[in-house]
Amino acid sequence: MTAKLINGNEIAKQIREELRQEVIHLKEKYNVVPGLVTILVGENPASVSYVTAKQKTSKELGFYSVQDNQPENISEDQLLQLIDKYNKDPRIHGILVQLPLPKHINETKVLYAIDPKKDVDGFHPVNVGKLMIGEADYLPCTPAGIQQLLIRSGVQIEGAEVVVVGRSNIVGKPIANILLQKQKGANATVTICHTGTRDMAFHTRRADILIVAAGKPKAITADMVKEGAVVIDVGVNRIGVTPDGKAKLCGDVDFEAVKEKASMITPVPGGVGPMTITMLMMNTVKAAKLHAGIR
Ligand code: NAP
Repeated sequence: MTAKLINGNEIAKQIREELRQEVIHLKEKYNVVPGLVTILVGENPASVSYVTAKQKTSKELGFYSVQDNQPENISEDQLLQLIDKYNKDPRIHGILVQLPLPKHINETKVLYAIDPKKDVDGFHPVNVGKLMIGEADYLPCTPAGIQQLLIRSGVQIEGAEVVVVGRSNIVGKPIANILLQKQKGANATVTICHTGTRDMAFHTRRADILIVAAGKPKAITADMVKEGAVVIDVGVNRIGVTPDGKAKLCGDVDFEAVKEKASMITPVPGGVGPMTITMLMMNTVKAAKLHAGIR
């Protein structure tokens, strides 16, 4: 079997077009314009490129969009004051602090300072807790993107055996939590593997849906995958440089071998990656609607 590719670029484009229409509708009917601020501290090149992409997308969708660049040596107190300013700004519905922050700033303290209603990354403990009890306002962006890829590719999630490799707070734990909720597009039986798992292949071979977020190239080989499984590769590993000077990327799955066994698979790049920013935009639209009391 050669797997069908799950095209994250196409699905992200489709969702962005839906959001663009929704933004027009919100403006025309309610005079509401979703507002997003991205706060960047310092000039880390990867962070600069992520923030630039988020800003570009938010402008394309018609948001009120603010990019707030702060110097590397901003103090923790100054950053907390800045967040407080945006917490109180009625034009801003979503606050995104680009991570990582410089070492002299306590990241947890900063993320906890964001008003949970404006926490469009879904990392505040209030939002993590709401996800846990099935009452989420905002799903964290990468896991939300994975769920959308599955739903929009017509994958049967309800009742499926889902195995997640990785238990980070930003991917592994939240995607497991999302897919085990007794809700539409979820209601799966979920297993989480990590470095303490005794026999990982025993678990991965049972998976109807295998989601891999380990950050280890080729951690999943063909012998670890069930015939016909759906494989979602979240990993982004830099394994060199292309002839035109760009980073050469690979996922956590041995793509060439596994695609002969799976029924569907995400490529890297072009699978999960394009969905993350799109879900940030979806959360910001939702934040604007919640703020305005629109259902
Ligand atoms: P992370 O915080 O490093 O967590 C990795 C997890 O994988 C840990 O729970 C670790 O187990 C587990 N793990 C590592 N090697 C393993 C192995 N050989 N067998 C079983 N479990 C293993 O990583 P992350 O932030 O979740 O990111 C994972 C990958 O996804 C990275 O490549 C990252 O770049 C990528 N990513 C992509 C996007 C996107 O938008 N496409 C977004 C976020 C992350 P322990 O807990 O036991 O250490």
